[in-house]
Amino acid sequence: MDIKKYIASIPGFPKEGIIFRDITPILQDPEALRYVTQTFVDFVKETQADFVIGPEARGFLFGVPVALECNLGFAPIRKPGKLPREAISVKYGLEYGEDELCMHTDAIKPGQKVVVIDDLLATGGTTQAAIQLVEQMGGQVVGCGFVIELDDLHGREKIGDIPVCSLAHYA
Ligand code: AMP
Repeated sequence: MDIKKYIASIPGFPKEGIIFRDITPILQDPEALRYVTQTFVDFVKETQADFVIGPEARGFLFGVPVALECNLGFAPIRKPGKLPREAISVKYGLEYGEDELCMHTDAIKPGQKVVVIDDLLATGGTTQAAIQLVEQMGGQVVGCGFVIELDDLHGREKIGDIPVCSLAHYA
């Protein structure tokens, strides 16, 4: 399937100079959604992961169906102030300033092998923070799945040797 047919590109959103890659047409089409989910399911099985995580909010949209289809659990990665129970956090640098991501401290069990699923890999800062959160809890990230990868931003360099599965590439 040519999944790019289901990705809308919106220049100037949310600000000048950004082309927003919108995955909502995938969600509107069950065949496209099944294709993306199944591709990630095959990838998760290859990695032999036993848990799936995803950053808010679009990582939830793909991470949860993939986890369910693999008969694995899922945990959310969230911005500060959203998780109701004890959580750990990691700060990471943005082009201008800093951001922070959190997970519940009991989300990952020591020794668990985890796949991170998100809609898009840009600079890799989000995924790198996710990897650090998993490692702080004694787990290991064994794969990262993205619907879209922005090649020119070289996010893969922040992911190192961990296998990556991306369905669509843009400059
Ligand atoms: P990064 O941490 O730089 O890899 O950014 C990845 C996160 O930012 C993902 O969770 C995306 O949802 C979002 N994101 C970054 N750039 C874009 C873009 N051009 N279009 C849509 N989402 C984006």
